[in-house]
Amino acid sequence: MSFPGDEVDAAPGSRVPEALVEPVGRDLVCMRGTAGSPSRCVALRGIIGQSVSCAIYEFRPVVCRDFAPLAAVGRGDEACSDARRRHGMPQLDFVAA
Ligand code: SF4
Repeated sequence: MSFPGDEVDAAPGSRVPEALVEPVGRDLVCMRGTAGSPSRCVALRGIIGQSVSCAIYEFRPVVCRDFAPLAAVGRGDEACSDARRRHGMPQLDFVAA
């Protein structure tokens, strides 16, 4: 998913690191690795379905902050279900918007 380039900062430690994004059009960027298929964000660590984490969790872009906000407490949503389905993972309880 793309997000505004103004979420990016060349100085590490405060916003999405510039080295981890690539341009999408004039004012948008996306995380490296997410534009192609198969897609895997450069900041994703670990093995999907086993244990994963975000290397820039504290500074992840808004699109990531907004994704499946209740997944950490075991409640999914439509986007979460789609992602889990793509990776052959069982569904979480669904929360309708
Ligand atoms: S949460 Fe982190 S690992 Fe996941 S897509 Fe966003 S930046 Fe990449």
